[in-house]
Amino acid sequence: MAKYRNYVIAQSLEEAYALNQKKSSVIVAGNMWLRMCGLNKQKAIDLSALGLDGIVEMEDAFVVGAMAPLRAMETHEGLNRAFGGAFKKAFAPIVGTQFRNMATVGASVYSRFGFSDVSALLLALNAEVILYKRGAVKLAEYQKEAWDRDIVVQIRIPKGQCAAVQSVRVSATDIPTLVCAASKSDAGMRIVLGARPARAVVVAEGLAPDAPQRVYEEIASQVTFGTNLRASDTYRKKIAPVLMARAVKACQEVAADER
Ligand SMILES: Cc1cc2nc3c(=O)[nH]c(=O)nc-3n(C[C@H](O)[C@H](O)[C@H](O)COP(=O)(O)OP(=O)(O)OC[C@H]3O[C@@H](n4cnc5c(N)ncnc54)[C@H](O)[C@@H]3O)c2cc1C
Repeated sequence: MAKYRNYVIAQSLEEAYALNQKKSSVIVAGNMWLRMCGLNKQKAIDLSALGLDGIVEMEDAFVVGAMAPLRAMETHEGLNRAFGGAFKKAFAPIVGTQFRNMATVGASVYSRFGFSDVSALLLALNAEVILYKRGAVKLAEYQKEAWDRDIVVQIRIPKGQCAAVQSVRVSATDIPTLVCAASKSDAGMRIVLGARPARAVVVAEGLAPDAPQRVYEEIASQVTFGTNLRASDTYRKKIAPVLMARAVKACQEVAADER
C-alpha cells in the first residue's frame, strides 16, 4: 500500500512541476501501479483538475492527454478508425475493464515498464511525448532515458499509418511474455519488440511488408532478450520472428481493408 501525508490537487502544470521537484513528492495518476509500490511519500500530486484527459483529433495527428485512461483510447472511435483498431486490440488484454478505466496513458509512457503493451504500440506509431518543461520528444528517444521529474502532458500520434499488435501471455490478463507491434506508413514497416523483458525498442524500420521469414529471424538474432518467471531468453528469441511476421501480416490486412 502507498501512503501519502498530503494530497494536493494541482491547479496548474507549473504548480505540479514545482511540487514534483522534491524527491518526497510523487505524481499520482490512476494510482494503479503506485498503490502496489509500498511508497511512503510526503506529497501526492494529483493532475486530475488540469483537463488532461481528452483525446483530440487534429488534421495530421491525435493528441491524447496524459490523464486519458487506457479504456478511453481503447474505445475511441476516431483513434481506432485511424489506426485499424490497433488500440482496441492492444489494450484489451491489459488486466480488466475496471483497471483500464483507471490506468492512464501518461503514467504508462512515463513509467517505461519493460512489459508495456502501451509503449510498444505508441512506439510503433512513432509517437511523440509532450513534456511540460522540455516540450516534444520522440518516444523512441524518451524510451532510452532515465526517469526524471518532468511531467508528461500529452502524447501526439501522427496519422497516415496503420498498426497491429501481437502478444503472447501465459494467461489471458497476465502481463505479456513478449509483445510485437508493427506499423505501416509511406516509410515502410516499423517493428517494435517489448516485454523482452525490457523496455520496448524499435527493431526494424523501413522494412518491406513482404520480407521473408529469414529476415525476421535475422532481426531477432540481433535483439537482446532476457529470462524471467514467465519465459527464458531462448524462448523469447524463438517466438519473436513468429510474432513479427504475424504483426506485419495483420498490419497488411488492416491496410488492405482500408483501401
Ligand atoms: C497489476 C498490473 C498489471 C499490469 N499489466 C499491464 C499489461 O499487461 N500491459 C501494460 O501495458 N501495462 C500493464 N500495467 C501498467 C498499467 O497499464 C499502467 O501503466 C500503470 O498502472 C500506471 O498507470 P497509472 O495511471 O495507474 O499510474 P500511477 O500508478 O498513478 O503512476 C505510475 C508512475 O507514473 C508517474 N506518473 C503518472 N502520471 C505522470 C505524468 N503525467 N507525468 C510524469 N509522471 C507521471 C507516477 O509518478 C508514477 O511514478 C499493469 C499494471 C498493474 C498494476
